[in-house]
Amino acid sequence: MSIAGQLRRCPPDLSSHSVAARLRFDPDEISAAANDFGGVVHSPPAAVFFPSSPADIAALVRLSHASPHPFPIAPRGHGHSVRGQAQASGGIVVQMSSLEGGFVDSGGEQLWIDVLRETLRRGMSPRSWTDYLHLTVGGTLSNGGVGGQAFRHGPQIANVLEMEVITGKGETVTCSERRRPELFFSVLGGVGQFGIITRARIAIDEAPKMVRWMRLMYTEFRGMTRDQEKLITMEASPESGRRRPDYVEGSVMMGHAMRSNWRSSFFSENDLRMIGELAAGNGGAIYCLEASFYYGYGHETAMAPRLEKLLEELSFVPGFSFTNDVSYFKFLNRVHDGEKRLRALGLWDLPHPWLNLFVPRSRITDFDAGVFRGIMKHSKFMGPILVYPTNRTKKDLEKLEDQNGEILKFCDREGIECKQYLPHYTRRDDWAKHFGRKWERFVQMKSMFDPKAILSPGQRIFNGPKLEAD
Ligand SMILES: Cc1cc2nc3c(=O)[nH]c(=O)nc-3n(C[C@H](O)[C@H](O)[C@H](O)COP(=O)(O)OP(=O)(O)OC[C@H]3O[C@@H](n4cnc5c(N)ncnc54)[C@H](O)[C@@H]3O)c2cc1C
Repeated sequence: MSIAGQLRRCPPDLSSHSVAARLRFDPDEISAAANDFGGVVHSPPAAVFFPSSPADIAALVRLSHASPHPFPIAPRGHGHSVRGQAQASGGIVVQMSSLEGGFVDSGGEQLWIDVLRETLRRGMSPRSWTDYLHLTVGGTLSNGGVGGQAFRHGPQIANVLEMEVITGKGETVTCSERRRPELFFSVLGGVGQFGIITRARIAIDEAPKMVRWMRLMYTEFRGMTRDQEKLITMEASPESGRRRPDYVEGSVMMGHAMRSNWRSSFFSENDLRMIGELAAGNGGAIYCLEASFYYGYGHETAMAPRLEKLLEELSFVPGFSFTNDVSYFKFLNRVHDGEKRLRALGLWDLPHPWLNLFVPRSRITDFDAGVFRGIMKHSKFMGPILVYPTNRTKKDLEKLEDQNGEILKFCDREGIECKQYLPHYTRRDDWAKHFGRKWERFVQMKSMFDPKAILSPGQRIFNGPKLEAD
C-alpha cells in the first residue's frame, strides 16, 4: 500500500493527522529531497516531512513501525551527503531543518555555524569541528565529524555528553555514556541506522578570540608528515616559547590546479606565483602543512603566541611559511568563503564524487608514491581542497569515478588497509568488511533499535521495507 494510502487508514492513536499535515508531495520538495551535494544519486521519496517538534518525528516513525507495510524514513540534515545517504527512495525524507530547537543542547537539525554563533555569544565554543560548518549536528554526529582539532579532542562524536534520539520503533530515548549506552554508542557514527538525533548536548570550552593560521610548504611528503606527527604529539612548554597547535591538517597542492584551487584571501597573488613555481620544479606537486594556534582568551596577557622557536624545529622549505591572523569565527568558517566564491561562479552545485580515506600511518608513504605521485600525477581533474569541484560534464564525472576506483584498487593490491569515511557501498559484504569485527554487533543493534530497517535507507546497508503500489 502506498504511504498516502496508509495515512488514510492508520489508527488515530498514531497521530496520523499531525503526520499527514506535515507531509508535502509537491514536485519541488520531492526533487530537492532526491538530490544532495554529491549530485550523483537521485532517488525521489514519495513525500517530504516537515516536523515542528521531535514528537512529530516520533509519530511518523511509529506509524511506519506499526504498519504491516513499513516505509523507509531518512532524516535529511542539510543534504551534504555525496551518495544519496540522506535519500529514501519511495519513502519519506524528514527535513530536519524545519525543527525548532535550542542550544548548546543543540537540536539535531541545527547547523554547526549556528551552534558556533550561539555559544560565542557566551564566550564559549565546542572544541572539535569539521572544516565546513554548514552541516547539521545530527548529520555529522551520524558520521564522525573529523577535522583539524580531532588530534586533541577526538572527532565530534567524542564530544557529546547526551542525546535525545527517536529509534526506529518511534520511541524517544535520552541516552548518554551511562544511560542507555548501547543506543548512545550505536547512534554516534551509526550512519543514521539506529535513531534520529533530535537533541545533542555538546561539550564546550572557553572560546579564543583570535587564531594565528599558518601554511608551510614542503617538497617532500615524508618531511610534512613527520612535522605533522611532531606537532600533534609535542608537549607545550611556555619557557622555551613552544606552543602546541590547536589545529593541524595538510594537503597536496598540484601545480596545474594551483590558481583555481588555492585562490583565497589567505594567499596573495605573489605567494601563489611562488608556490606554483616551487610545485613546477618538484614534479608538479608540493605539500602544505596547515597549523593554527588559538589566542586572545579572557585570561591571556600576550596578544599573540610566540612561535619562532617552534618554526625553527620544522623542516618546511625556507621562505615558504605563510601566516594570517584572523578571528576565531572567520577561521572556523573559512570554507564558507570558498563556497561563496564558487556559488558566484555557478561551480558549487556540480557533482562531487569525493573519496575520503583513513590510511594507516605505516603505509602513508606508499600511498603518496602510488596515488599522489602516481595515479593523480597527470590527472587534470585533481583538486586538493574539499570544497573545490572540477569540471561540469558527465564525462569528467566518470573519469573522477574511475580515478577513485583506481585508488581503491591500488590500496587493495598493495595491501594498504585504508578505511573509507562517508563510504557508499552497495553490497552488504562490503559493509561487513568495512565494519570488520564490529559488523555482528552493528547488525545486532540494528535489530534492537530499528528492526524493520526503516531509517536512512540511502546508506544501502540493510534491505529496507518493500514498498508496494496502492
Ligand atoms: C563542503 C563540505 C565539507 C565537509 N567537510 C567535512 C569535514 O571537514 N569533516 C567531516 O567529518 N565531514 C565533512 N563533510 C561531510 C559531512 O560530515 C557529511 O556531508 C554529513 O553527511 C553531514 O551533512 P548533513 O548535515 O547535510 O547531513 P545529510 O547529508 O543530510 O545526512 C547524512 C546522513 O545522516 C543521516 N542523518 C541526518 N540527520 C540526522 C539526524 N538528525 N539523526 C540521525 N541521522 C541523521 C541521513 O539520513 C544520512 O544518512 C563535508 C561535507 C561538505 C559538503
